[in-house]
Amino acid sequence: MAFNQQPIALLSVYDKTGLLPLAQGLADAGVRLLGSGGTAKAIRNAGMKIEDVSDITKAPEMLGGRVKTLHPAVHGGILARNIPSDASDLEAQKIAPINVVVCNLYPFNETIARIPPPSIPEAVEEVDIGGVTLLRAAAKNHDRVVILSDPKDYDEFLAQWKAGNGQVSEEFRQRMAVKAFSHTAAYDTSISNYFRRQYVSADGLADAPADKKADLTERVQQLTLRYGANPHQKPAQAYVTEGKLPFTVLSGSPGYINLLDALNSYALVHELSRAFTPAKAAAASFKHVSPAGAAVETKLTEADVKVFDVDGVGELSPIASAYARARGADRMSSFGDFIALSHTCDVPTAKIISREVSDGIIAPGYEPEALDILKKKKGGKYCVLQMDPSYNPGTQETRQVYGITLEQRRNDAKIDAETFGNIVSKNKNLSPEALTDLIVATTALKYTQSNSVCFAYNGGTIGLGAGQQSRIHCTRLAGSKADAWWLRHHPRVLSFKWRKGIKRADRSNGTDVFVTGEIFDSDPAGSERKEWESLFEQGQVPEPLSAEEKKQWFEEIKGKVSLSSDAFFPFPDNVWRATRSGVGHFAAPSGSVMDEKVIETADESNAVYVFTNLRLFTH
Ligand code: 5GP
Repeated sequence: MAFNQQPIALLSVYDKTGLLPLAQGLADAGVRLLGSGGTAKAIRNAGMKIEDVSDITKAPEMLGGRVKTLHPAVHGGILARNIPSDASDLEAQKIAPINVVVCNLYPFNETIARIPPPSIPEAVEEVDIGGVTLLRAAAKNHDRVVILSDPKDYDEFLAQWKAGNGQVSEEFRQRMAVKAFSHTAAYDTSISNYFRRQYVSADGLADAPADKKADLTERVQQLTLRYGANPHQKPAQAYVTEGKLPFTVLSGSPGYINLLDALNSYALVHELSRAFTPAKAAAASFKHVSPAGAAVETKLTEADVKVFDVDGVGELSPIASAYARARGADRMSSFGDFIALSHTCDVPTAKIISREVSDGIIAPGYEPEALDILKKKKGGKYCVLQMDPSYNPGTQETRQVYGITLEQRRNDAKIDAETFGNIVSKNKNLSPEALTDLIVATTALKYTQSNSVCFAYNGGTIGLGAGQQSRIHCTRLAGSKADAWWLRHHPRVLSFKWRKGIKRADRSNGTDVFVTGEIFDSDPAGSERKEWESLFEQGQVPEPLSAEEKKQWFEEIKGKVSLSSDAFFPFPDNVWRATRSGVGHFAAPSGSVMDEKVIETADESNAVYVFTNLRLFTH
């Protein structure tokens, strides 16, 4: 009985675009119109008949408009299902069912974007309560009720309503419900975003009294960033919607790319460290969202100490040895790095960092003296982040590209000794050292922009080919970096007579052009050559390494290097290339039509080849 009455439409809109033609169309179709204050007034002023919501609620709008439609007469009318028990409830309360709800919300975003910005009380008044309730109630009951939240849908609605004699299709009701749910979700996102920035932002910490700082730190959910990837990409921020930000800014002010590097590199070292029992200290040196180097604690040889430029620091702790190795992997790429440590940053590690050009560091803790050293870097602007090691990032991750939201399960694949159990080559002899190197290389790849191939040796990466579209180019790039790494250890390089007073970075660059042979291709009378020669003491400019010297030197590392690939090798050329750089252990997923040929090629040099069953693309 209750549902056979004259259909009712409730209209309550802030944006009154298209309202009058809609109201006219509804009235023409014999629909009874109800409106909240301003909406009813606009329709009435246009000469149409409409009742006020207060006529059915028998309660006036109150609290300056805060309560307009929040009433059982309204929400009972919207939420009632077409079932006998709901019908009798309506009849008992003399409530008429509502068939159509037309509602859009106060313009929260426009208000907060105003210049000058509104005060917080002004913003509070823009938080729509009743409208959200109308939208949600009508969307929930879309089986019976039509909810129109966008003026663009009015025409289609009227056409369907008229053609269907007071009915619209189920598909239309469903589509309108999705729109309404999305409208309220976006609205709540804007509101929570705004109040997060006002009440639980790290920006408030700077002015907070010392005794309140610790408390506030516990609540921080949002951090305003100077800009995004580039200076014109403003505004920019980092935030969580639940719990607190898992890191605290101890010094400096992280930028957008800093955070990309910090969060990815921390994830890498956190996982790498725990891939071993007992856990090993792990470190990474990141640039442009890929590792320049990653390593676990491993004692440095005398040559390593020189090559990684860490002499004079004294006894290295496990975490210091891991960072020395990570930073030493590719000193050119690590220039201006973001550092991640799995363990507390101690004084030896801080001392190494203090001498290098670096942008920032993330670690689970800092010894007080180490923190003092780091805070002095970059004139006090060095970025120091403390990460909560118990943080759990959850399983799903989303991001937007060109306005489209992409969602996926986070890459939570575990990499440890078990990942390398399926040895498919004739040689099954994977030493503990090689296994460690495969774990290091594969974990590094998990956080490297694809395609990627990584060479590792002695607990650290020594060559990483990242972001190439072709796998052989990754292998060649990684191989040439690994070659440079090994040649940097050549006794002739270690005995270079550098001119006094030249910078560390100049030594790295000077060594790099020597070991890659670049400088010897340049014009012997040109400025490039002159500048390079000026790095050395008078009369001590090194002669190039001869082909024979190089050949002999590579004999020493033959078969000792490990390689991991983030996807299968499509051709054996990768194996041939890697073998030339000393690789004796390969790990890659299977799946290529050439798998057999690839394994045969590894067998030619008696290498160990492991199928990991784990593709590790990262984008
Ligand atoms: P009107 O211009 O009709 O007075 O107000 C329309 C606006 O009020 C719509 O944007 C709607 O979302 C909102 N609204 C509807 N009911 C309520 C209520 O009970 N409380 C508040 N604060 N806003 C409401």
